[in-house]
Amino acid sequence: MSWVARGRCPHRAVSDVPTLALTFDDGPDRRTTPRLLDILAGAGARATFFVMADRAAASPELMARMTDEGHAVGLHCLEHVRHRDRDVAWVRSDTARALDALAALGLRPRLWRTPWGDRAPWTAALADEHRLALVGWTVDTHDWRGDSADAMFAATRAGLRAGAIVLAHDGIGPGARRDDAEQTLGFTGRVIDHAERHGLRLGALE
Ligand SMILES: [Zn+2]
Repeated sequence: MSWVARGRCPHRAVSDVPTLALTFDDGPDRRTTPRLLDILAGAGARATFFVMADRAAASPELMARMTDEGHAVGLHCLEHVRHRDRDVAWVRSDTARALDALAALGLRPRLWRTPWGDRAPWTAALADEHRLALVGWTVDTHDWRGDSADAMFAATRAGLRAGAIVLAHDGIGPGARRDDAEQTLGFTGRVIDHAERHGLRLGALE
């Protein structure tokens, strides 16, 4: 991954401002994602969306809006399965189909967060085949559990600093214990306030 967080500098350029990366998996979602984009736009914040290819294909207008507004789009998957539950041929096919679907939208992701962040022994080689950089996270909101925005913010606050990569979800994926991503929107607002207070830029991964 080429993205790096840079330290403070008294005469810093935009790229040198300490950066925090919000990332959202399992979307886009027609209910949540437009409102999330509104919240981010209102703050001048950028984020990274690791999308499910079928959901992206079903909402081309949302995908266009993401890129138009400066967010990064990475690959999550077509089918949301753990790599270690499948063989390499199966995941290679899933990945190729997902990338084809995104290419039809004019998208060529360079970043890949696998479902649940799960990696098989061959996942890194498969990423190389597709020129994708694997991306994990340093802060997990566990938002899929249905925790409140306040609880998620309190639990993650110590990790919300320069160089952090925050895992959240704008879509409802398999295993989620909530019906919507409403609390993730509230959490995002709290992170925006936190970033403003601490001089952090909310940037997209590159
Ligand atoms: Zn996921």
